[in-house]
Amino acid sequence: MTRAISLHNVSKAYGRSQRAVDRFSLSIDPGEFVVLLGPSGCGKSTVLRMIAGLEEITEGELLLDGEPANHLAPRERGMAMVFQNFALYPTMTNRANIGFPLKLESPGQDHTARVENTARMLGIDSVLDRYPGQLSGGERQRVAMGRAISRRPSVFLMDEPLSNLDAKLRNHLRAEISQLTRELGVTTVYVTHDQAEAMSLGDRVAVMRGGRLQQVSPPREVYALPENVFVAAFIGTPRINLLQAVVHAPLEGRMSIDLGRQRLPLPEPLSPDHQLLRIQQGRQIIVGLRSEAARIAAPSQARPGEVALSGIVEHVEYQGHEALVHLNTGSQPAVVPDLESARPDRAAQRRRRAAGGSGIGGGSGGGVGVLERLRERATGHISGRVVALDEPEPDRGHPAIRTPDRPAITASDLVVRTGPDMRLRIGGQVPLLVDLAHLYVFDHYGRRICPLPKDIPGFDV
Ligand code: ADP
Repeated sequence: MTRAISLHNVSKAYGRSQRAVDRFSLSIDPGEFVVLLGPSGCGKSTVLRMIAGLEEITEGELLLDGEPANHLAPRERGMAMVFQNFALYPTMTNRANIGFPLKLESPGQDHTARVENTARMLGIDSVLDRYPGQLSGGERQRVAMGRAISRRPSVFLMDEPLSNLDAKLRNHLRAEISQLTRELGVTTVYVTHDQAEAMSLGDRVAVMRGGRLQQVSPPREVYALPENVFVAAFIGTPRINLLQAVVHAPLEGRMSIDLGRQRLPLPEPLSPDHQLLRIQQGRQIIVGLRSEAARIAAPSQARPGEVALSGIVEHVEYQGHEALVHLNTGSQPAVVPDLESARPDRAAQRRRRAAGGSGIGGGSGGGVGVLERLRERATGHISGRVVALDEPEPDRGHPAIRTPDRPAITASDLVVRTGPDMRLRIGGQVPLLVDLAHLYVFDHYGRRICPLPKDIPGFDV
C-alpha cells in the first residue's frame, strides 16, 4: 500500500528562533516521487522529519491519505527513512541489518526469504553474511536501502542518501533508486541540495529557500518556467546568466531592453509576453539568458527571433563535448542571495541595512565574508546589484535591487556554449545572436514577468 501525503501551511520553529519551515504546503499523490531541493539550511530535512514524525509540527496540518496525522507516532506511519550516513549496526551482519525491522515487527518469524529477495533486488546477495565494515560505500548504502524496503513501507523518505558517495557511484545508484521506487510504486520524498540529482529523479521538484516553498513543478517546468529568479539561478548548469537591465518603451519607435553598453531590440509586432514589459518602462529589471539562448555567430546568420550583441572573450572552459565561453558584454550581473549559503538572518540583515550595510551574499550574518570575497575574486564577479527575493513589506520599502558599496569590476557577464572546436582568442571580440524566444525577465522582486506567469488576474492574451 502506498500513501498520499498533504502538508497544509506547515511551519516549524525551534525555540524562539525564526521559523526553519514557514507555511509550507504540498500535496503528494500515492506512488509519486517528489524531490525537496534547496541550499543547505533551507528547511528540507525539517520537512522530511515532520512527515516522518521525528519532529513536531509547530503549526499547520499533515494528512496521510486524507486523515489528520500530526499526532501519529513515527512507527504508526508505516514509513521508512534512508539517511546520508547509512546508520547500519556495525556488529551485525548485513543479513541481520536488513532483517532487523522485520524482526522488530514480527519477532519469532523466519524472514530469510524476504531478506534474500530484497538483497537480490539490490544486487547485494553475495555479501549478506559479511559485516558493514567489509563493504564499499555503495554496497553499504544498498544495505541501508535494503533495510528500508524489507518491511515494504508505504512511504520512502530519503535524506541526501547519496551525498557520501563518489560521483560515479552516485550516478549509478541514482538510476537504481529511480528504478526501484518505480517498481515498488511507493510514494517517495527525497531531499537533496544537488539540482542535477533532483532533476533526474523527481516526478516533481519542490524548490525551497529560507524555509519557504518557491515552486513545485515537474523538472522540465522548473527549468523552462522558473517562477522567480532564485529558482532560475538554482536550476541548470552552467548557471543562468542574470543581467541588470532597464526597459525602454518610447511612445514612438521600437521597444528595447538596455543592458548597459548594448541593447536588445524587441521584435515587432510585440509578442504578448513582450507587450507586458511596457509597464516596466524605466524600471530596473533582471534579464535571464541560459547559456543555450545565445550563440557565437555573425548577424548575417540570424534566424527569426534572434538579435545581435557582441562580447569580448574573457575565458574559455573546454569541456570535451563542448566549450563554455565567458564573455564581457558590458552588462552588470545581478547577484541572487542565498544560492549556496545557509538561510539569511533577516533580523541581522535589517540591522545591517539600517546601519547602511550592503547585505550582499545572504550568509548567516556578518556582512561580506572572506569566503564570499574569495568566491567573487575566483569568478571575477565583484558583486553587481543584489536582487531582493521577498515581497515588499510595508515597514520596509527598501529598493528591491540594492547597489553594493564597492564598484563593480566585473570581468565576464555572459556564458555561452559553443562546439569544442571553435577557435577563440582571449581578448578578441565576437558577434553573438540572442534567441528572444528564450529570454526571461524578472521584476524588482525577482518574480518572473516574461514569459508571462500563468495567473495574472485580468490579463487575457
Ligand atoms: P536543510 O535540510 O535544508 O539543510 P534543515 O531542515 O536541516 O535544512 O534546517 C533548517 C534550519 O533549521 C537551519 O537553519 C537549521 O540550523 C535549523 N535547525 C534544524 N534543526 C534544528 C534544531 N534541532 N534546533 C534548532 N535549529 C535547527
